[in-house]
Amino acid sequence: MKRLLPTSTAGSLPKPSWLAEPEKLWSPWKLQGDELIEAKQDALRVALLEQQQAGIDIVSDGEQTRQHFVTTFIENLNGVDFDKRETVRIRDRYDASVPSVVGAVSRQKPVFVDDARFLRQQTTQPIKWALPGPMTMIDTLYDGHYKSREKLAWEFAKILNEEARELEAAGVDIIQFDEPAFNVFFDEVNDWGIATLEKAIEGLKCETAVHICYGYGIKANTDWKKTLGSEWRQYEETFPKLQQSSIDLISLECHNSRVPMDLLELIRGKKVMVGAIDVATSSIETAEEVANTLRTALQFVDADKLYPCTNCGMAPLSRQVARGKLNALTAGAEIIRAELSV
Ligand SMILES: [Zn+2]
Repeated sequence: MKRLLPTSTAGSLPKPSWLAEPEKLWSPWKLQGDELIEAKQDALRVALLEQQQAGIDIVSDGEQTRQHFVTTFIENLNGVDFDKRETVRIRDRYDASVPSVVGAVSRQKPVFVDDARFLRQQTTQPIKWALPGPMTMIDTLYDGHYKSREKLAWEFAKILNEEARELEAAGVDIIQFDEPAFNVFFDEVNDWGIATLEKAIEGLKCETAVHICYGYGIKANTDWKKTLGSEWRQYEETFPKLQQSSIDLISLECHNSRVPMDLLELIRGKKVMVGAIDVATSSIETAEEVANTLRTALQFVDADKLYPCTNCGMAPLSRQVARGKLNALTAGAEIIRAELSV
């Protein structure tokens, strides 16, 4: 019998302090060359083991081999100059100095495929691999070449599809595209954002997911959340079209957020990765708090389609806190499984 409420994380986990400075985004590597390759693989093994010890059902690499969920992928592409930087406004929220698109973009070589193959060798459990989505990729770049967000997104979608097909061949069970930008640019999401995502998953036989959150627990994001009022209805703008899309799973921020849970009704029929762990606080949820969020979600998501998950990546947290949160997630899921089986 298929296990009910399979648990997973949105993606990233903290890195060990011997690999990179902890509790920091874009933290520089502490090693180089072959030592770095070996250390990343060791960290991946540790991240996997910690998920397994916590009882996580669908495991990931914890994003141990990448510095950042968007930047590392883009670094491996042609057409982007990392030395030519311009200041842009990311997700309409904060200014950042970002690399420039200076020519046609293309993938020089597979980016994460070797890492995914390595993870596949370590476990027989289902594995999920995260890639940035096209809209979130264009939002962290200055485009001096295509001069069209839509055109650049289509080019990235083609590249992502090449990578995704190879990840599938390497044995990945679920390929997830991170699209926090979907919570900001609603018109573009509906005009071409979901269409470019469909391009990125074209021809895949493995399951596909889109992760749409309110961002890591960093100050720019928590400040932005304060401006969103008492009800966060952003999902309402994009869910109707996502419900019609070919994406299998939708990963969402729910716990401690002000998202009205009845919005989940709009994606009825999809599998929903319900964020039941808040990544913007170091306080560890109790199993009962996790269970409460899942119980509420069950009013709008069929039990066989509910996937307990974290709100977002846990990279900026301490390892100890992340471990505690993984344990809380599986303990909370277990409470609900027991309730469902009576
Ligand atoms: Zn996220």
